[in-house]
Amino acid sequence: MLDTQTVMRSKARPGADVVEAVRVVSARELPSLVNQIDVEGYYPESVMREYGRLGAYAHHLPGATDNVDLLTSINAMAAAGEHCLSTSFCMWCQDALGWYIFASDNKALKIGVGAKVADGEILGGTALSNPMKALFGIEPMRLKGKAVEGGYVVKGLLPYVSNLGADHYFGGIFEVEDGAAKRNVMAIIPCASEGLTLAENTRFTALDGTRTFCVQMRDVFVPESLVIADPAETYVKRIRAGFVLLQAGMAFGLIRDCIRLIEQTKGPLGHVNKYLEIQPEQLSEQLAGMEAAVAKLCATPFETDVGYWRAVLEARLAAGEASVAAAHAAMLHCGARGYVANAPAQRRLREAYFVAIVTPATKQLRKMLADMAH
Ligand SMILES: Cc1cc2nc3c(=O)[nH]c(=O)nc-3n(C[C@H](O)[C@H](O)[C@H](O)COP(=O)(O)OP(=O)(O)OC[C@H]3O[C@@H](n4cnc5c(N)ncnc54)[C@H](O)[C@@H]3O)c2cc1C
Repeated sequence: MLDTQTVMRSKARPGADVVEAVRVVSARELPSLVNQIDVEGYYPESVMREYGRLGAYAHHLPGATDNVDLLTSINAMAAAGEHCLSTSFCMWCQDALGWYIFASDNKALKIGVGAKVADGEILGGTALSNPMKALFGIEPMRLKGKAVEGGYVVKGLLPYVSNLGADHYFGGIFEVEDGAAKRNVMAIIPCASEGLTLAENTRFTALDGTRTFCVQMRDVFVPESLVIADPAETYVKRIRAGFVLLQAGMAFGLIRDCIRLIEQTKGPLGHVNKYLEIQPEQLSEQLAGMEAAVAKLCATPFETDVGYWRAVLEARLAAGEASVAAAHAAMLHCGARGYVANAPAQRRLREAYFVAIVTPATKQLRKMLADMAH
């Protein structure tokens, strides 16, 4: 099968080698870019493409079988995230786009756009925050579609979609009215579509180098050939655990760096920092526990059992909360040197909140877990 060969080619390098290669490139490229990314909103496109050539976006993609290796993609994301959360979030966006395509039955899309997403030749992201909230009863669907000859015409506005550009793609879901009934359809949408505009009118407190746009769709034609699920509900259940688990890479990288920042203060400030409530040993232990839990869950991302889904949500909640706690601890340990503009500790604190507010946000996770208890 061609699509399998495509994924296999991108997976040619063993997972551990991919992570090591991403680690080397990140250590070489990101330290000198990270403040430009953070302060000026610089998007590290060439680094993103280099990660793709190294195989960072391929190992989690399903081929002919459901055997996937989410951990390599998570660990690659974490290696970049040790330096910069913007970059590791862009990697997650890219990973999610590939995940959607290769978890679908759309063979032509896998061979075409999918293969190029897997190796970073095509970049893109995911517009699933709104549908992920809509499907769990938090807000209405923002994209509306109408069936027409050969596809759908879609309109609506999404305030934030990241890792985009004129020639990028994103996965999105729109609601279609079918007489009295409504259904959701998922498709891969080119940013170059006629009627689609990207507006960059928001400055963020962190994560500003993620090419995050407001996407406006004015009667955009989405051909059948780009549809990956119609109706989308069963398919979303299939992809949701992978979508959530992959985000762990952002948290793990950020927490590792917070621990490193704290360790660095031991020499000059250890005599007083030892009185702080949170010490690096505790954070390391907590991180190891989370890494083990995520590794176990990553072994079966298509599991349908509700207990499994609950465990995925709990792991995601822990990742967001531990990110904020680790960055807070890093600030307290670093003291004034962490409070200086451009200091890593203050950046990590701003970045950490993103892990806790990107969909599924802490509040959504708590709602979902509360709903499951009834
Ligand atoms: C830097 C950044 C990058 C993001 N990238 C993506 C992405 O790639 N794909 C994606 O789907 N989502 C993206 N999001 C959205 C993100 O995943 C969350 O959905 C968002 O942070 C709000 O989630 P929440 O559950 O806390 O909702 P809340 O903050 O409680 O928001 C509730 C509603 O208010 C709307 N809203 C939020 N901000 C404003 C505003 N300034 N003015 C008016 N209405 C507003 C939201 O769209 C939402 O419908 C991004 C957000 C940020 C900050």
